[in-house]
Amino acid sequence: MSDKSTSSKTPAATATETPQVSSPPRRIYPIVKYGDPILEKPGAPVKKFDAELEGLVEDMFASMYAAQGVGLAAPQIGKSVRFAVVDVTGGKNPEAKIVLVNPEVTHAEGEVREEEGCLSIPGFRGYVVRPQFVTVKAQNVKGEPFEIRGENLLARAFCHEIDHLNGILFLQHLGMLKRDMIKRKIKKLKKQGEW
Ligand SMILES: [Zn+2]
Repeated sequence: MSDKSTSSKTPAATATETPQVSSPPRRIYPIVKYGDPILEKPGAPVKKFDAELEGLVEDMFASMYAAQGVGLAAPQIGKSVRFAVVDVTGGKNPEAKIVLVNPEVTHAEGEVREEEGCLSIPGFRGYVVRPQFVTVKAQNVKGEPFEIRGENLLARAFCHEIDHLNGILFLQHLGMLKRDMIKRKIKKLKKQGEW
């Protein structure tokens, strides 16, 4: 569990347990916000595929849904390790749940410029160019290797989350002016105790 301070205004900021039908209660982690150095350093590879990892992955899905996100990387809950969860349906389709452990983009094609946001940078969005198609090589929660192809939003989510595992935030893909403006506003919010 993260001990990083987050705004008390967001529902995800307090650790609570959400009861779910036919599954054990999950821990909702607070989302680490921009400014925390953990978001800007590469995570360590996952080597142990055990019940602890499985539990953590389910907690990540629960935390992501609670925060209304479509992707969440382990550094965003304060764990500097290389895994992320993605569900571009936001929980509407259980089949759409994707766990990426030690993922790598092995192929990218095309370009799409689209607005993007991040749970760790709430309230700010910016246009980021991402590949239209990507192929990702990863392991599942059991450690079994697999390959998955993503298109458009899914490709974007894969790239955004894999960036997180490398300590890269979407801000780094923005133009300097836009990036500096967002950073200035966050600084101001911090000063006011609202970040
Ligand atoms: Zn993000």
